[in-house]
Amino acid sequence: MKLTIVGCAGSYPGPDSSASCYLLEADHEGRTWRIVIDLGNGALGQLQRYCDPRDVDAIAISHLHPDHCIDMASFAVLAKYHPDGSYRKIPVYAPRGGEDYLGWAGGPGGEDPAESSEFHVWEDEPVMEVGPFRVTAALVDHPVTAFGMRIEVEGHVIGYSGDTGPTDVLLDIARDADLFLCEASFVESKENPPHLHLTGAEAGQVSATAAVKRLLITHVPAWTDAAEVEADVKSAWSGAYDMVRCGDVFTL
Ligand SMILES: [Zn+2]
Ligand SMILES: [Zn+2]
Repeated sequence: MKLTIVGCAGSYPGPDSSASCYLLEADHEGRTWRIVIDLGNGALGQLQRYCDPRDVDAIAISHLHPDHCIDMASFAVLAKYHPDGSYRKIPVYAPRGGEDYLGWAGGPGGEDPAESSEFHVWEDEPVMEVGPFRVTAALVDHPVTAFGMRIEVEGHVIGYSGDTGPTDVLLDIARDADLFLCEASFVESKENPPHLHLTGAEAGQVSATAAVKRLLITHVPAWTDAAEVEADVKSAWSGAYDMVRCGDVFTL
């Protein structure tokens, strides 16, 4: 399995990265299967560096903040009007309301993502199975309905926090994971609002308790000092970690 960091800027696109988007690829039954986790602002452009969007088999959206989903509105345009013909309809898993919200985001009279995608609601179907991928969504702690994900592929596990404040649900998502892709939007030196985001130290604490094998810190906003986030991580975690950047690839 290959994880490519397509976009990792927190909260809004930064000068060096689009907002959240992660591409997972795995070979299975004679072909490569691809799923995309989140498709935030600018990510549809960056995704084309790593694959033809036509070859994506499914999309999993953690929550309906624009930095995690808004490029679905542009995906609908690409999928319908590509000169080589429309894309096949692919499954898209999102929180309830995703279909309506992303239809609205297409603008008055704009493209409806439901025409290019088969929408599923995490609250009704918390498990997405596509090719070799099994993605289990779990409700985390954020101002809107938001899910973290535990992604399993042929014995390998990637945990993804999505956006969340501290919650024990992260332990279920990350337990013994080969890779734990965890947000760290806040720094310990500030007063942070509750139920919103993690600091690097909180990401490190979860990783230690859950015994993850490698921590991947993501979703650091451009307005935040990444070096301070990293220092916070190191204060609570002595294991392997990366501060991910656009284009980083991790293979399991
Ligand atoms: Zn976010
Ligand atoms: Zn959010």
